[in-house]
Amino acid sequence: MTAFTASVCRSCGAVAYPPRRRCRACGKTGSDPVPLEGKATLVTFTRVYNLSLAFEERYITVGIVEFQSGARALGRLAVDEPEIGMELSCYVAPVRTVGYETYEGLWFERPGSPAA
Ligand SMILES: [Zn+2]
Repeated sequence: MTAFTASVCRSCGAVAYPPRRRCRACGKTGSDPVPLEGKATLVTFTRVYNLSLAFEERYITVGIVEFQSGARALGRLAVDEPEIGMELSCYVAPVRTVGYETYEGLWFERPGSPAA
């Protein structure tokens, strides 16, 4: 399982995902990793219907969430009827298989749901 992390600037505390070497807020270097885990809040979402043949689904639902650390990340929603502002929990699982390669990504679900 791949770990997904954001970075927290040591100078000003700004959070960035994907992690950045130079802080976008204060311009300084030096940061610490912070894992993308725990509770998150759904900021926005959409359904994607125009998928490549690598997907068996008719559509996928993707969303941007904000973690308690302040990091925002894009991932797949394992929720039938998402609502902006709802609380979600995060896990890492395959999002796509191409040939023999499996790509992992972030998934979001209602807290307490069994991970896929
Ligand atoms: Zn900074």
